[in-house]
Amino acid sequence: MNNEPATPILHGSCHCGAVRLTLPSAPENATSCNCSLCRRTGGIWAYYELGTVFVEGHPENTEEYIWGDRTLRNLRCKTCGTPTHWEPLTPPPHERMGVNARLVDPTLLEGVEVREVDGRSWDE
Ligand SMILES: [Zn+2]
Repeated sequence: MNNEPATPILHGSCHCGAVRLTLPSAPENATSCNCSLCRRTGGIWAYYELGTVFVEGHPENTEEYIWGDRTLRNLRCKTCGTPTHWEPLTPPPHERMGVNARLVDPTLLEGVEVREVDGRSWDE
């Protein structure tokens, strides 16, 4: 046991509030991707171990979109269309899932490094 302060828990939600995410901690960094999907949806992706992010309203309030090599499914709110997160479709063990950091209050993410990722090069 130690006396370190608890890691702050971050909350995020889609525009209408039907899908709400609780993150275990602030991301160390996030990625801005230029693939054919991300350049349209504009998400900034933070990565978490699968099972560490609590997603309320999923799957009942979400729709999925699967494309390309079908290794993951992109999820969005059924009502407002906000891209919320993605989940792997590959067989376990899973390394991680992605959360759209734009759902979190930007003041809470100040200082999080956003890296440019050249996803366009993976496009089919
Ligand atoms: Zn919504």
